[in-house]
Amino acid sequence: MRQIIIIGSGPAGYTAAIYAARANLEPLLIASSVEAGGELMNTTEVENFPGFPDGVMGPDLMAKLQVQAEKFGTEVLYDDVTSLDLTGEIKTVQVGSGETYEAKTVIFATGSAYRKLGLSEEEHLSGHGLSWCATCDGFFFREKTIAVVGGGDSAVEEATFLTRFASRVYLIHRRDQLRASKIMQNRAFENDKIEFVWNSEVVAINGEDAVSGVTLRDTVTGETSELALDGLFVAIGNDPRTHLVHGQLDLTSEGTIAVEGRSSKTNLPGVFAAGDVVDPTYRQAVTAAASGTVAALDAEHFLAALEQAEHESLTLAN
Ligand SMILES: Cc1cc2nc3c(=O)[nH]c(=O)nc-3n(C[C@H](O)[C@H](O)[C@H](O)COP(=O)(O)OP(=O)(O)OC[C@H]3O[C@@H](n4cnc5c(N)ncnc54)[C@H](O)[C@@H]3O)c2cc1C
Repeated sequence: MRQIIIIGSGPAGYTAAIYAARANLEPLLIASSVEAGGELMNTTEVENFPGFPDGVMGPDLMAKLQVQAEKFGTEVLYDDVTSLDLTGEIKTVQVGSGETYEAKTVIFATGSAYRKLGLSEEEHLSGHGLSWCATCDGFFFREKTIAVVGGGDSAVEEATFLTRFASRVYLIHRRDQLRASKIMQNRAFENDKIEFVWNSEVVAINGEDAVSGVTLRDTVTGETSELALDGLFVAIGNDPRTHLVHGQLDLTSEGTIAVEGRSSKTNLPGVFAAGDVVDPTYRQAVTAAASGTVAALDAEHFLAALEQAEHESLTLAN
């Protein structure tokens, strides 16, 4: 039986693995079969991860984290967790190959998925003018013309934030009014740089190697039109990847895994959660990495207490 299994190979999972491996816990990290490396595999330049003054490509950063985790003794398994039982003292984790692994502790770091528009162009234009994160990528669009898709709080907040950089920000929404709170709406209405494109949905993102615009369809008349752009931000929601633990781990009203205070402790002893799957607010690589550290330290303390308790019961029995 393992001391620790880490599920997820994003910044949270790999950072947890680096700490757990350096504590001699020989972690098994289950990385996923096709999505190993997490969300940063879908982007190009990352300029806000500390320690890289010239920026680093998302996949390069993840490759470095993997090497660092393996260097200290992490075993990385490229498979998907298909089911798990976290309720007992021994946690069991089943993967796609059919193999079952057992551990005393589990760190759940499966991240969260930005909702996509469902257009085929999204894959190859991601990181090439197409983004899901204004905090991450706004800086690349100084004096550019961009658009945000969405009508909720996060879309309006992102559009307002992006006016710090862009010369013009279109807010494209399917309806003729926003879902965002009144205060957010008023802030956006008063902002000269934001122009609203009502009753419109994006039916194509144009551009060979980088975003050059979008094709819009009017949701009332059905007419299509073209809008020239340098960049497009999609802000239509986010889904924490929690389906594997429904019925076992408590969730918050925002759909993230509920943890105790600033710790990574879930409602089940020996089960810890880290990264975007617990974070409805910040969702950055460095916050996910920090959260992975917390989870590894919590797991380490849990295992030490377990060992101490086992030792005491053995001493009493003798
Ligand atoms: C396009 C894009 C650009 C971004 N740019 C930046 C940036 O410049 N700076 C920044 O700080 N942040 C950026 N972010 C946000 C950042 O990527 C996330 O905050 C961060 O990756 C979250 O880390 P995580 O480890 O919690 O989850 P993730 O990176 O999402 O990793 C989750 C991992 O869990 C795995 N997993 C899920 N389910 C299973 C399963 N059943 N079995 C096995 N494994 C599983 C996934 O495959 C993945 O490896 C960007 C995000 C996107 C989408």
